[in-house]
Amino acid sequence: MKKFKIAVIPGDGIGNEVMAEGIKILDTFAAIKGDISFEYQYFPWGCEYYLKTGNMMDANGLKVLKEFDAILLGAVGDPSVPDHVSLHGLLLKIRQGFNQYINLRPIKLLPGAPCPLKDKGPKDIDFVVIRENVEGEYAGVGGIRFPDMPEEIAIQTGVFTRKNTEKVMDYAFKLAQKRNKFNKVTNVTKSNALNYSMVFWDKIFKEIAEGYQDIKTETNHVDAVSMYFLQRPETYDVLVASNLFGDIITDLGAALQGGLGFAASGNLNLEKEYPSMFEPVHGSAPDIKDKGIANPIAMIWTAKMMLDFLLEDPDTEAIIEAITGVLLEGKTLTPDLKGNAKTHEVGDAVCQKLKMLL
Ligand code: ATP
Ligand code: MG
Repeated sequence: MKKFKIAVIPGDGIGNEVMAEGIKILDTFAAIKGDISFEYQYFPWGCEYYLKTGNMMDANGLKVLKEFDAILLGAVGDPSVPDHVSLHGLLLKIRQGFNQYINLRPIKLLPGAPCPLKDKGPKDIDFVVIRENVEGEYAGVGGIRFPDMPEEIAIQTGVFTRKNTEKVMDYAFKLAQKRNKFNKVTNVTKSNALNYSMVFWDKIFKEIAEGYQDIKTETNHVDAVSMYFLQRPETYDVLVASNLFGDIITDLGAALQGGLGFAASGNLNLEKEYPSMFEPVHGSAPDIKDKGIANPIAMIWTAKMMLDFLLEDPDTEAIIEAITGVLLEGKTLTPDLKGNAKTHEVGDAVCQKLKMLL
């Protein structure tokens, strides 16, 4: 019996509501397999915690989390807490503190999911964005000079280290080999304008590509990528992007795959020196919280990504098949998908399908 210790941070708003469905799919999967089990410990951290204590998470939070095999996060955010407080107080602290240098974002349109591009379908939208996740434009380096004066200056510096950039790019190439789709990696850059950071980025990309003669490469500026995502998404396989550019294009990707209800992500420390963290891309969605109508598919997909990181088991693909089954059937869908089902009903329906598949 393989036992995994999972730290669960449900967070705020719908984060809390969809988390139950993520746990449900994990337990269903474990029950079917019989040889794995999960032990969960819940942490009440997030904006509600901040409003009570003045901290997004406990001061020794990282020390406590370090003992777990993985972290599952719902969402954090609250209209009364500034976004940069919640982001830096929890999410970035964990990503950077645990050196989760890879942000893994599958952009895959499932059959039955709504795509805003009417001439594109599931076979056209199936690629992965690897986003650098701990440094770059989000390194937190900079400052304000002459605050509130007419001469006020804000400085935000990008930090790109050779070691980290090499590791991120190397992972992109390895993933292209593993996917074996087009055996192609697209370098997302802006080296025409950013003459230090992105020129360096391109240089490392070329160096790493040398070691992967079997993988084709292309280099697109980030503005062009945004256009090509809409015009010809079918040409992509694996893309590698810096923290900021990756952030932006993966939201565009989320739209292509049916919206935030479908966008799942992993923050990975490949060496497993620290736990990795898995979270749906959506936020706490205060407009629909406490109604029990949030779409749990992104969370369920996220749980599947966690399984893939913890174990090598091709059966996890059945979770995606189960989601697809529910979508195609069209009977149990949340209001964002024009249905009238509750969050937990969608979770139950996916688990039911999974039991039939495995
Ligand atoms: P936060 O400040 O925590 O990021 P937000 O207001 O930005 O919250 P998001 O969750 O990022 O909200 O998403 C924006 C909108 O998309 C939500 O207000 C909600 O209407 C919709 N949405 C997001 N996720 C879901 C979901 N899982 N199910 C249904 N609707 C969703
Ligand atoms: Mg948001």
